[in-house]
Parts: sequence; C-alpha cells; structure tokens
Amino acid sequence: MKKNSYDAIIIGSGIGGSACAALLSHAGFKTLVLEKNERIGGFTSCYQKQGFTIDISIHVFSNGINGRFGKILHRIGLATKEKGKIQSQYLKFVPNLDRRTAIRMPNQKNYFSMGSMLTPQSKITPKPDSGNIQKTVSNLGMNKEDMNNLMNIFMTILGLTKRKIRKLEENQLTLKNYIESFTKSPFIHSFLAFTVGGMFAISPRRASAAEFVRGIQEWFGSNDMSYPLGGSIAVPQAFLEGVKKYGGDIRTKARVSEIVIENNRAKGVIVNDEFIESSFIISNAGIKKTVLSLTGEKFYENNYINKVKSLVPSNSSITFKFALNKQIIPKEFGMVNIFHKNLLNPSKKSEEGDTRSTGFMTMIPSNLDPNLAPPGKQLIIFGTLAPTKGVEDWKKWTDMHYEEILRNYPEIEDQIIFVDVSTPLDLAQLSGKKYGPIESTALIPSQSGPNRISSELPIDGLYVVGDSAGTNTHGIGTQLAADSAIKCADLIISKYKQ
Ligand SMILES: Cc1cc2nc3c(=O)[nH]c(=O)nc-3n(C[C@H](O)[C@H](O)[C@H](O)COP(=O)(O)OP(=O)(O)OC[C@H]3O[C@@H](n4cnc5c(N)ncnc54)[C@H](O)[C@@H]3O)c2cc1C
Repeated sequence: MKKNSYDAIIIGSGIGGSACAALLSHAGFKTLVLEKNERIGGFTSCYQKQGFTIDISIHVFSNGINGRFGKILHRIGLATKEKGKIQSQYLKFVPNLDRRTAIRMPNQKNYFSMGSMLTPQSKITPKPDSGNIQKTVSNLGMNKEDMNNLMNIFMTILGLTKRKIRKLEENQLTLKNYIESFTKSPFIHSFLAFTVGGMFAISPRRASAAEFVRGIQEWFGSNDMSYPLGGSIAVPQAFLEGVKKYGGDIRTKARVSEIVIENNRAKGVIVNDEFIESSFIISNAGIKKTVLSLTGEKFYENNYINKVKSLVPSNSSITFKFALNKQIIPKEFGMVNIFHKNLLNPSKKSEEGDTRSTGFMTMIPSNLDPNLAPPGKQLIIFGTLAPTKGVEDWKKWTDMHYEEILRNYPEIEDQIIFVDVSTPLDLAQLSGKKYGPIESTALIPSQSGPNRISSELPIDGLYVVGDSAGTNTHGIGTQLAADSAIKCADLIISKYKQ
C-alpha cells in the first residue's frame, strides 16, 4: 500500500464517525479518521477549565452500555458479555441515572423525583409503577382526568406492536395528531412537548409519532438511561480506542476541504492542502455539508440535490455551564429538568420575539462523576431549545435565559466561579453544520424510518454517517448516530469484504 493511501477515510469523529471507524478498523480495513477540531467527539466533545471537565453541549444518554454503544464495543472486542450483561473497561456509565432524575416547576423549590416513577427493572412488562407515576404527576399539578389520560397514553405507547408502529409510519402521523386521538388537554400536550423536545428537539406538531413511540419504548424498556464516567467525550474516545487497537490512524486539526470525485467515484480527500487517497470515504460532516459543499453539487442529479436541500434540521440549543464554589443541587440528583406548562414552539416564538425558554434540561455532571469538578465544587449545565434561524441578536436570548435560571436557583449567584454560555452559532462552528442543530436531519415523518435519506450516496464509494442520514435508523440523538454507524459499517463490510 502507498504511504498516503487508505481503505477508508472517515471525515469527523462524532459518535457516528468514531463508531463507524471502529467497526471498519475491526473488520480489517486500513482506516484514517480526520477531525477538524483540536479535540475529538463533535457534539459529545468536552473541554477543561480551572479544574472542571465540561461537556461542550449537554448530554444524557437514553441508553448506556446495554444499548448500541455496548453493542459496538462488544463487536470490536472492547467489551465482554456475560449472562446478557455487557461490560467494558473502556467505557463505564454511572448506574441508575433514571432513579436520579427530578422535575421542578418554574420558580418552585421542590424536586419531584422522576425515578420513583420507574420500577427497578422496567422492561415493557412489567409496566411502570402506575402508583408512583400518579404521585409524581399530581405533585406537578395535574388533575385526575389528565393523570388517567397520560397513564393511558404511556401504557398504549409501551404496548404498541412493531406492526402498529409501522402503521403510524405509513400514515406519516405527527405526534400532535397521534396524541389528539387520545386527548386535547393542554397540560398533556405540554408535558409531551417537553418530553419530545428533550428527545428530538422538535415540537409534537413536527415530530414523527412512530419515532416517538420507538424512542419511548427503547428508553423505558431498556431502563439504561446513563451518563458516562469521564463526561460525554468518553463515548467517542472508547470507539477511537478501537480504531487504534486495529491499526487505524486518527488526526485532529485536520479539516477536509474537498472530497475528490473522478468518474463518479470518490477517490480521496484534500486536507490541509494534502491529497490522501482512499478506496471509500465516510463523511460524518452531515449530509448537507457533504453533498453541497465537500463534493459540490455538480456530481448529482437535480432531484437528488433538491431532496438534500429540502431536508430540515431540528432546533438548536443554548447552554449555560455554571462552575460553582459549592454544591447547590443535592448530590442524589444527576438530572433536574425544569418543566414549563404551556410550552411554545421555539421557532414560532422567535418570529413573535418571545425569548422565554421552553423549559430547561439540567445536568449536574459532577454529581454523577465527582472527578469532573475540583473537590467540593459543582458543575451544572442548563440547556434549552433555540431556533436555527431568524435570530439576529442572541444576547437578548442568553440574557433572558440567564435571568430565568437565577430566578429558579437564586442561591447560585453567590457561588459562581465562571459561567460559559454557548449559542447555536457556537454549535455551528463546533460541528461544521449550519445553524448547529441538535439533530441534523429532524425526525419528522417525511425524514424518518424508510423515508430517511440513505447513508449511501449516488457516488461510488461515498457514504454519510451520523444523525443526518441512514434509512431505517432510529433512536434519540447519539443512539441515532450510533445506529447509523452500525448500519453504514455493515453495508460497507458486505460490499467490500470478500
Ligand atoms: C446542545 C445539544 C444537546 C444534545 N443533547 C443530547 C442528549 O441529551 N442525548 C442525546 O442522545 N443526544 C443529544 N444531542 C444530539 C447528539 O449530540 C447528536 O445527535 C450526535 O452527537 C451527532 O453525532 P454525529 O456523529 O452525527 O456528528 P457530530 O457530533 O456533529 O460530529 C461531526 C464531526 O465532524 C467533524 N467535521 C465536520 N466537518 C469536517 C471537516 N470538513 N473535516 C473534518 N472534520 C469535520 C466535526 O468537527 C465533528 O467532530 C444533543 C446535541 C446538542 C447540540
């Protein structure tokens, strides 16, 4: 083999890129990962500051080692499986996060434990403990009728068969329409808006009902909601350990400026003015960026270009990282979400100049892994949805949310060491994806399941992996990216490995 020649080049080291690279390296392909940033991991990357290790975004993983991450590590020999349980020395998760979550109503001091809603091993059967669910939601101010309706909705969703889910998919049903077949209660619609906002970063008006059902079944059924020791970056880091183990190379500060195409075949990439040849190329830079910019439109038929251009992203996010002198949120909680009644759609809000938050997802990483903050200090990350366009002045938004956080946690103010704020502009720069969406190709009916755009591009040897592409890939955020990695790697292995 020539020095600058590989079997597989992977552009980007997000969950999708790093996982796909690990699977291909393990399958015997000579692999090179090129990452434009100084640090690997894309949206799951982190940085160090004054003794804190801080997630660049904000993450909770609906599945940990027992989901796709463990499946990948097991497949590449970095995890063992005994009696159905996966373990890896490369990636460890904090156990029982689902029992360490709580909800708060705006400007109230009480924490309502969500953990009490779940039975210890909540497979779809036995069903979640209805007594505890009722106690928690009644604490949130829900009336009896709403409570019964919500229970009924969750029980129905958890019991839906694959055939019925496919029916929802065929009918291209949105979550809003699906829920309306049960109830019109504003409280329930608001509760589910908060839930689907946290899962897919879109409103029920846009979200695919089928993907919501799949996501809930997986999340509740696996009882594996997790956060990794070492912070979110530990996940792509573990995958890249696999790349190294099987002889692959990883380069950071390596921005690909072009994917070179000849005779409708991907031949290699240009990185820092150097041409590197490869038998095939897998881009983790997002379908739009790959097609419209890294290769250029001229290689595709018009209808394909139009299809790519018409793909819509999810909302983006504003995050606040509070490094604090002492513990403010009790250490038994790893995640405390602030749930707002009467949620509005952030895109619609921006048009109306309304910057109030849609509620906050709040992670307390140092409560989950004390090594992420200096002894006695606390790291809290607040995240809220933000639109991907139509905003010129982000300061107005960040000021408003900041005040809202302080209204909810007035005791924080005296304990601040520093606060780092990131807007959609920062997320766009980090990922290279326009507008910094939480999910690059939103899980709306026309873009999910069988309608999701393929990982295999109409150019020989060119693929896209991650949360932007992959027909019939499923899951919440990082799970979607990992699913795309598994399916894309399998496609390549079956095609190129004799
Ligand atoms: C604020 C926020 C909160 C989120 N919360 C959750 C959550 O709680 N749970 C969850 O499961 N998911 C969550 N997500 C979604 C999840 O992070 C993403 O779905 C997933 O990480 C996307 O992975 P990916 O592999 O598709 O790509 P990315 O993570 O976007 O990685 C793409 C990589 O490609 C690199 N790249 C791009 N262009 C080039 C180039 N030209 N040359 C070289 N490298 C390049 C980028 O630098 C980046 O490292 C959240 C996302 C955000 C932004």
